[in-house]
Amino acid sequence: MKNPIRIDTKSASAFGEAKVYIPGGVNSPVRAFKSVGITPLFMERGSGSRVWDIDGNSFIDYVGSWGPLILGHTHPEVLQAIMDTAVKGTSFGAPTEVETEMAKLVVERVPSLEMVRMVNSGTEATMSALRLARGFTKRNKILKFEGSYHGHADALLIKAGSGVATLGLPDSPGVPEGVAANTITVPYNDLEAVQLVFEKFGEDIAAIIVEPVCGNMGVVPPLPGFLQGLRDVTAQYGSLLIFDEVMTGFRVHKHCAQGLYGITPDLTCLGKVIGGGLPVGAYGGRREIMLQMAPAGPIYQAGTLSGNPLAMAAGLTTLKLLGKPGVYEELERKAAKLEQGLKQNAAEAGIASTINRVGSMLCPFFTDQQVINYETAKTADMAKFNHYFGRMLDLGVSVAPSQFEGMFISTAHSDEDIAATVEAHREALKSL
Ligand code: PMP
Repeated sequence: MKNPIRIDTKSASAFGEAKVYIPGGVNSPVRAFKSVGITPLFMERGSGSRVWDIDGNSFIDYVGSWGPLILGHTHPEVLQAIMDTAVKGTSFGAPTEVETEMAKLVVERVPSLEMVRMVNSGTEATMSALRLARGFTKRNKILKFEGSYHGHADALLIKAGSGVATLGLPDSPGVPEGVAANTITVPYNDLEAVQLVFEKFGEDIAAIIVEPVCGNMGVVPPLPGFLQGLRDVTAQYGSLLIFDEVMTGFRVHKHCAQGLYGITPDLTCLGKVIGGGLPVGAYGGRREIMLQMAPAGPIYQAGTLSGNPLAMAAGLTTLKLLGKPGVYEELERKAAKLEQGLKQNAAEAGIASTINRVGSMLCPFFTDQQVINYETAKTADMAKFNHYFGRMLDLGVSVAPSQFEGMFISTAHSDEDIAATVEAHREALKSL
């Protein structure tokens, strides 16, 4: 065992103290490692593909801050941009030129965008896009997919309904039933279910919001024709199609998932990668729709720190680096190599495994079923996953502490990192 995780660690005592002052000891629930029953690691620093916890253990990191760190930790050019900006002022609450530069680059890269508004998180992006869709269409209902996550705004915090067209019930205490009632959920990749919902409620549906590759039930790619089907049905009924590319944006392709699949939504939500590791979200779309936002139009949305210079500097530098030739090809090559290695390990160990991957998003599910939606994702053996997760940490590899999260490969992962990860995975599977 290279990195034994014990209970008498600095992380364990830091967690104990954090729990006194912070609910559950964390500022975002998944970080608590609750479902895997392991004390969370408190991190001290990161560099390239690696992170170090406060006990001095180091790990090859595939969490990447849950997606943003596509260039790895503390990328020198991103750091430099942040430092150069910080000395000039960390926030003005007044327009700065870098915001326009950022908007221009994002509009150039993302096919569906003619205008974009910066916010501070993915949640803000989806929440604002929904308000805009409702204000623009003057309709209230929205359709989302079971097992998709679009941030924690009330209307989007609705989980699986059962059956074809389920009217949502509050998934979390505190979400008013009246709000939940306007959110319809159907299974991901189920175009027929979508069509049935539209036949019944189509005239009242403001928008479909969809992760073009679902990254919140593991990794689940769209089946051929699914995204086109959503495009067609929304166009037919005058609803808007919102791609939530908070995770996939600049992750799966230089032009996001919409570039990869060649489908143009009406509105797009971004986050994670566009912030380069700082808090950023964005939403954008066609000019005529975006001009509904205040102060150009009547729909309100604002932010004290929106377009923050540090965040813009980190994001802009990240996007510029991602624009260089060969970056996504190299990510694809390394991710494919990892996929291949994991597949071979599972076959050799005789362990049920389905690996879904789109570019540098990858998820090994402990199931032999094809995973196309939340139901099939749930066929994965959670006990096996939990054990695997702990073993991977012991072996010096950090993956997300949930079967419903993917791995993120960064440009900082070397071929040696990939080989070491495949070796650790082989070792971990042996103990299952
Ligand atoms: N949409 C998607 C697809 C996401 O994956 C996430 C976060 N994982 C969000 C929205 C919410 O983003 P944030 O956590 O920045 O609020």
